[in-house]
Amino acid sequence: MTQSQSFWPVECAQGEPDLFVCLTCFDEVFRAKLPVEGCPGCGAVAAFEPFTLEAIREWGTESLIQKAEQLPASSLPSKPGSDQAASSV
Ligand SMILES: [Zn+2]
Repeated sequence: MTQSQSFWPVECAQGEPDLFVCLTCFDEVFRAKLPVEGCPGCGAVAAFEPFTLEAIREWGTESLIQKAEQLPASSLPSKPGSDQAASSV
């Protein structure tokens, strides 16, 4: 748990797939970022492709789907004067 991984941030436009799945082991998924040192599961580098959660649900393994669902929603830094006014949590 103390081992901190490094990630490349990936900019994803809204509506674009932002879940990056390792196509070598199909068991690692990251949202809007890529592990610098490759897949933590199988070590593959540059094996990640972006998918939507819907797509992952169609063909993903149970554990992959679970991981994808548990990823926090992409939290882009809110721009000053953003038009998101409907959040009253
Ligand atoms: Zn992998």
